[in-house]
Amino acid sequence: MFDVVIAGGGPAGSAAAMALADSGLETLIVDKSQFPRNKACGEYVSAGGVEQLRALGLESVLAPAAAPLDGIRLSGNGVRVELRFSQTGWALPRFRLDDEMLRSALSRGAAFLQARVEDVSADQIGSLLTVREPSGETREVRARFVIGADGTNSVIAKKCGLSVQPRGEQRFALGGHYGGLRDLDRFVEMFVEGRSYFAVNPFDAAHANIMVIVREKDLTARKSDVDQFIRERARSLSGDAARFAEAHLEGKRVAVGPLAHSTRAITAGNILLAGDAAGFIDPFTGQGVHLALRSGTAAAQAIVTAIGAPSSGRAAIENYAADLSSEMRRRSKLARIVRSFTGSAALSKRAARNVERDPERAQILIDAIAGCGPVEPALRLGNLLRLVA
Ligand SMILES: Cc1cc2nc3c(=O)[nH]c(=O)nc-3n(C[C@H](O)[C@H](O)[C@H](O)COP(=O)(O)OP(=O)(O)OC[C@H]3O[C@@H](n4cnc5c(N)ncnc54)[C@H](O)[C@@H]3O)c2cc1C
Repeated sequence: MFDVVIAGGGPAGSAAAMALADSGLETLIVDKSQFPRNKACGEYVSAGGVEQLRALGLESVLAPAAAPLDGIRLSGNGVRVELRFSQTGWALPRFRLDDEMLRSALSRGAAFLQARVEDVSADQIGSLLTVREPSGETREVRARFVIGADGTNSVIAKKCGLSVQPRGEQRFALGGHYGGLRDLDRFVEMFVEGRSYFAVNPFDAAHANIMVIVREKDLTARKSDVDQFIRERARSLSGDAARFAEAHLEGKRVAVGPLAHSTRAITAGNILLAGDAAGFIDPFTGQGVHLALRSGTAAAQAIVTAIGAPSSGRAAIENYAADLSSEMRRRSKLARIVRSFTGSAALSKRAARNVERDPERAQILIDAIAGCGPVEPALRLGNLLRLVA
């Protein structure tokens, strides 16, 4: 029996495994993928995410693969706003980030099994997971604690009855790594139109991760010529055909969705959710990797406390759930505030005017979203920037 089995070896799962292995706990990561693997993502790592990676001792190994980012340019509704980060973020391929994280977890003593988690149940002794290996064979794995870090389609969340069915019209992401671009600099560029947007995260002057977020009906309509659709979308939303005229996909195209997952609770007994499995925040604000790293580490700390001092174990798990729920609520609110700036021409103009008049206030909002500033004042100011003309 393992002390902890972690479903999913993405940033949340590997961060948890590092902390657990460092504490001497027998830890197994079960992931359906063979690593290194790709993950559909804009591949922007916020300053808060970079800080977490530094704390995990990974900055020196990852920095050479990362392109530094100085800020973000937001265009839409005829308005363009440029905001600088007060601490540098990264453009970093997930292929590399996730692989280095998993390697580091294994080098610290965690074990890895390539298998798909199919079921989880709890009994008096702990939890029992049913996993299917690539050969098709199933086996059972026992653990005192389980961390569900298996992303937005979390089997652990579903099997524990924690998932909530997404409602309303869903959005999907299309994109990948593109070359042949022109004049990219160290700014993420976001081009917004209603609920759709198009994000360019530059690796260098000519190469970037491009993600186009579209409504389900647009996806269905253009499924057969996705790359052409991406080019058209890029041109129309950026309003600058020349910069994207030579854009071509390099490597595999990404198409994922729906971009939604929420939960009614984050823990069930000795089973804890972390990262996207606990809840998905609109990727527009790029808070996902940072939150995955933080929640994975926090889940591990709660389990270390629970195993070390069983009398206070329940409280440690409950505190984890309460803290993460509150953090996710506040970060979702920040994402909604920023999205609301782009909701109409009037709001965009008003927000741009306020940002120009009061850049210090805008900086508080940007720093909070990037995970290098306090969230509460940013929430208050976010409302102000949005509402005060
Ligand atoms: C289109 C898009 C763009 C995004 N852009 C950004 C961005 O630019 N910046 C940012 O910070 N965030 C972004 N995000 C969010 C970010 O990708 C996630 O928040 C982050 O990957 C969450 O990490 P995780 O470890 O929780 O889950 P994941 O990274 O999804 O890892 C989950 C792991 O679980 C494994 N798994 C899944 N099911 C099972 C199973 N049944 N059994 C075993 N293993 C399983 C998977 O193989 C995977 O390795 C974006 C998300 C999307 C969809």
